[in-house]
Amino acid sequence: RGKRAFIAGVADDNGYGWAIAKSLAAAGAEILVGTWVPALNIFETSLRRGKFDESRVLPDGSLMEITKVYPLDAVYDCPEDVPEDVKANKRYAGSANWTVKEVAESVKQDFGCIDILVHSLANGPEVIKPLLETSRNGYLAAISASSYSFISLLKYFVPLMNPGGASISLTYIASERIIPGYGGGMSSAKAALESDTRVLAFEAGRKHKIRVNTISAGPLRSRAAKAIGFIDMMIDYSLENAPLQKELSAEEVGNAAAFLVSPLASAITGAVVYVDNGLNAMGVGV
Ligand code: NAD
Repeated sequence: RGKRAFIAGVADDNGYGWAIAKSLAAAGAEILVGTWVPALNIFETSLRRGKFDESRVLPDGSLMEITKVYPLDAVYDCPEDVPEDVKANKRYAGSANWTVKEVAESVKQDFGCIDILVHSLANGPEVIKPLLETSRNGYLAAISASSYSFISLLKYFVPLMNPGGASISLTYIASERIIPGYGGGMSSAKAALESDTRVLAFEAGRKHKIRVNTISAGPLRSRAAKAIGFIDMMIDYSLENAPLQKELSAEEVGNAAAFLVSPLASAITGAVVYVDNGLNAMGVGV
């Protein structure tokens, strides 16, 4: 049987999650995705109406199939955690079983097991605010949606994961170097995600033989990145200063992810792998 992947954080065809899904599908994996509840309707409608068909084309000419789309909100672990106003919100009330624990239960019921877990989601409500102006709630929300969400996903999906399985997340160099504009505690959230990658690699490796890595990706004009407001500047900066002077494609990150979750990377765990045209290695701009 081919491998089965669950990819959390796909809501259109522009982001890293979609590109990772494609690379995994091209390598023969079955694709399940988790889509943020408020974005679910438009994503499913667009998929059904063929709006993504051009971007579904795989290298062999076939179209990527998404076996199932699960509604997901990764800031809630179980139904008891969901506040009343969210429960009553009509976008949320229209879907069911979208807390992390429930999604894992649904995947288990539907398919029994998975081999690959991908975390490609982040959210920082105050990302455009400098850290000095970030509220406690904004900071905690960034950590909840962007860092703890990975711990939670791994916690509830590990029991469904076959030994030898692998997980991956996406991080950004703002965790370790100053990137003005990446605010709201998002830099802190990525630092936590990278540190957790090491500790979770130990725990999931010892207990379940599962690998945990994270890709530190260069700038991509995704929906989330456009909301931060400085993405064009970051892409230009990379073009000018990185060792490889080309625009980074989402596919390059997808391919690196496919490698890292494959048996080719069977001794790689707890790593932060840069897929950024080498920009991280520069000490000064030139
Ligand atoms: P994206 O908009 O394609 O992906 C982010 C996804 O997160 C969206 O689909 C959104 O609906 C989802 N999401 C937000 N809150 C959620 C929640 N509570 N529950 C479930 N889903 C939720 O943008 P992207 O840039 O491809 O982001 C994917 C990952 O890549 C993120 O971790 C991001 O930080 C990381 N990354 C992006 C860049 C970049 O330049 N785009 C660079 C480095 C790292």
